[in-house]
Formats: sequence, C-alpha cells, structure tokens
Amino acid sequence: MQWEAVIGLEVHVQLSTKSKIFSGASPAFGGAPNTQACPVDLGLPGVLPVLNAEAVRMAVMFGLAIGAEIHPYSVFDRKNYFYPDLPKGYQISQFAHPIVGPGTIDVQMENGETITVGITRAHLEEDAGKSLHTSYPGMTGIDLNRTGTPLLEVVTDPDLRSPEQAVAYFKQLHALVRYLKICDGNLAEGSMRCDANVSVRPLGAEELGERSEIKNINSFRFVEKAITFEIERQIDILESGGKVQRDTRLYDSDLNETRSMRTKELSDDYRYFPDPDLLPVHLTPEFIAEVKSSLPELPEARKTRFTTELKLSDYDATWLTGDPEVADYFEAVLATTDDAKLTANWIMGDASAALHRDDLEWIDCPVPATELGRLIVRIKDNTLSSKLAKTVFEALWAGEGTADEIIEARGLRQLSDSGALGDIIEKIILDNPHQVAQYRAGKNKVLGFFVGRVMKATQGKANPGRVNELLLELLGSWGQSKGAE
Ligand code: ADP
Ligand code: MG
Repeated sequence: MQWEAVIGLEVHVQLSTKSKIFSGASPAFGGAPNTQACPVDLGLPGVLPVLNAEAVRMAVMFGLAIGAEIHPYSVFDRKNYFYPDLPKGYQISQFAHPIVGPGTIDVQMENGETITVGITRAHLEEDAGKSLHTSYPGMTGIDLNRTGTPLLEVVTDPDLRSPEQAVAYFKQLHALVRYLKICDGNLAEGSMRCDANVSVRPLGAEELGERSEIKNINSFRFVEKAITFEIERQIDILESGGKVQRDTRLYDSDLNETRSMRTKELSDDYRYFPDPDLLPVHLTPEFIAEVKSSLPELPEARKTRFTTELKLSDYDATWLTGDPEVADYFEAVLATTDDAKLTANWIMGDASAALHRDDLEWIDCPVPATELGRLIVRIKDNTLSSKLAKTVFEALWAGEGTADEIIEARGLRQLSDSGALGDIIEKIILDNPHQVAQYRAGKNKVLGFFVGRVMKATQGKANPGRVNELLLELLGSWGQSKGAE
C-alpha cells in the first residue's frame, strides 16, 4: 500500500512589541525568573487587561502581507484549563472570531516547485509561563515572565504533503515575519514555535486519517525530523492492523522520536467564551488602509527586483532575499560598488563563510557595508587582485581600519607596472633556463611555474593578468599562447 502524509501546522509567532498584549510589562527575553509578570499577567483580583494596539497592527500587517481577509470585527475569548504555568486558569485567545481570516501563502520549494498553502486563520493570543523541568532536580520551576507575551498563531489548512514542504513553509513564514519586523525570528529563544498535526491516508483517498499533534517544535531541522518520525510511526501502526490514536505528542530530539503526552482534548473541553473584560475589536477601513500603506517591500517583490533590475540569477536573488538582514547588507554594499554580481559573490562567498566560521549573525558582521564596498571598488579599479582582496577582507574583519587604510599600511597594492614587473620576470626567466627550454619545446603548462615564481617574488602582489601578458611577451609568444591554466 502506498501512503500519503497530510500535515497542518500551527505556528506561534511572538510579536516584537515593547510591552505585553494586555499589560505594560516587558516581554523581553532572558530576565531573571518572575521579574517581568505584573498583576494583569497573573490575573490577580481587581485588574483589567487593556489591548496593546501595536499587537493588533502587527497582526493586520501579517494578514495584509499574505493577502488574507482582515476581519473588521474580532473577539477575545477565554480558553479555560489548569496548568501550573497559567495562574489565571485561562488563556486569552481568539476562537470564533479571529482577526485574520482565510488566505494563502505560496511556498517556493528548493526544487523550484511552488506550492500554495491555505491559511485557515491567524489569531492573537497571550502566551503562558514556562515550566522548567530540568533546572531543579525532583521539582518543577515556574517562570511567569512569558505570561501575557503577544502571540500571533498562524494556522494552515491540512495542505502540506511531506516533511520537506512543512519545513519550506515554516522557513518562508520565518522570512516573512522578519521582513515585516513583527517578530525577531529567534527560534532558539522560542520566538517561533511550531505545532505539527500529522496524519496519513492511503494514496488517492479523499478522507483524512486520524491525526496526532506534535507540540512546540522550535527548529527547522526538528520540524523535518519530528514529522518524518511521526509519519513512519503511523504507517507502522496502520500496516500492522492498528488504529492511530488522536493524541498530543512531544518530540524528543535526543532520541529522535515522538512520545504521547496526553490524549487530545477537543475544543469543547476548553469552555471558550468571550472575555467579559475585553471589548470586541473593531477595525476601521482607514486603519487597515493606513497599515497597508506602511508595509515594507516583501521577499517576493525584492527577489523580482533583484532578478530584473539588478540582473542577478534566480539562485543569487533567492539566496540574498531569504533573510532580510542579508538583503539589507547586500544593498548597502551595492550602494558603494554599483556592481551587483561582484557584490553578490562577496556576500555569498567570503562574507558568508567568515560569519559562519565565527558563528555570527549578519547584523553582527564586523565589516561595515561601506568598507566591503570600498574593497570591491579596489578590485574593480585594479588596485587589488582577488587574492590580495581576501587579505584585505581578513584585516577588515579583524578591525584593522578602513579598506584603503589597510591597503596603504600593509602595502597591499597589486603590482601592474610593466617596468617593475618586467624586471622581476626577466630575472626569473634567466634563473630558470631548464623551464624556459621546456616552454619553448611546446610545454605550455610551464607557464604556471613562472606565474607561481612571480607571485612568490612579489609576495602575491603581482597583477595576474599583467603577469600573464608579460610572460608571454618575454618568453616569446610561440607555441599556443593561451596563458596559464
Ligand atoms: P485543533 O482544535 O486541534 O487545533 P484544528 O481543526 O484547528 O484543530 O486544526 C489544527 C491543525 O491541524 C490545522 O493546521 C489543520 O490543518 C490540521 N489538521 C486538521 N486535521 C488534520 C488531519 N487529519 N491531518 C493533518 N492535519 C490536520
Ligand atoms: Mg491545536
């Protein structure tokens, strides 16, 4: 039997507002436990929540960016359950009337294919606190700092068909919220967490199979691994004649398996009802229009601009626009160089490799964009060979000054002058009669030997193009004068 996987994702996007969704407390990550939860977050008697307008604006930005319906009327509900990290006994969420309605996201797969993923809804809600199970042996610690942090929960239709599609969607959502600057995208700190709903059915079947839901996956790699494991687990059950149980599971990345946490509660169990402390949200057409006019350039539009206006390849444009910080850095360098291809090569090559080596993010790149730009300008005006440019780049990285200061201080100008280079080359020819004879006998490869000697004699500063020309000229241009390999 051939099986088909069906996957729907619920992604919690932590909105980067300055204060919480219903209180003035700070949602900043990393504070000492229980220092950032105020009486409103804890639901102490006599307090009233007040909706954060910025969270509403961000939700609307997201909805508009994916071309989804924006509901002019939405309602906050109480979702009732007990958990030690939820002192109020209910979470404020949106149920029957979410702020963002149906929409779609087109997801670009690595193989060039595009899939359209239905977005069922995106609603605003508050986060709960955190239970710390590992820090205190034999006990559970409760940190309530996270209570009341604004979340936008983005729910897909069951449209994804493979772990790869799920990851591609998650990555694209990640890029989008960072472009919109509504979320910092920090997966390690839990700024985007994904619940994956997974079922399988016989290939070609219409009806959906019973599903399980894997909670709180916080990395791209784990989304892929958890779903892959879950699909296989369910197929094994079905092939041995069993039935998949509707349950809520946890992914254990150490063991690479999912484990059942509890059988699934249905929405009836939560006794949703409109929160009597909060008014319904009414959005005016003027507000929606104003948010729309403030939307930044989105990833697709930027990519198209890179391929059409800058004439970059599809591959380069995709690489550069996947992360808004990369694209911003690229454009800042380009402002100095006016050479898109060469700039793209430096960003995707040396700069990216150095960041990776030092485990840094693009915003932390120690080389200012203007200085990488100056360096590239010095390649274009023949001051630097590509080899010398690498040396200058490393010095820029180490903070030795501006590109031009480094070139001066270290004497890294490339030698192009025919007189000085000619003298050096003539001496090398005289010193190596054996290789000269080989060359004259038609062994063109020996040219490489001479180039190497010139580079050594000039400490790598000779202009390779000039060296080739002069060598051919001085060795006599008989044989195939194609130059070195
Ligand atoms: P819940 O109340 O459990 O959150 P929803 O109906 O809101 O359930 O669906 C949650 C997610 O599960 C959505 O992303 C949806 O696409 C997905 N989903 C629903 N049914 C299935 C199924 N049979 N297989 C896979 N995913 C599913
Ligand atoms: Mg759910």
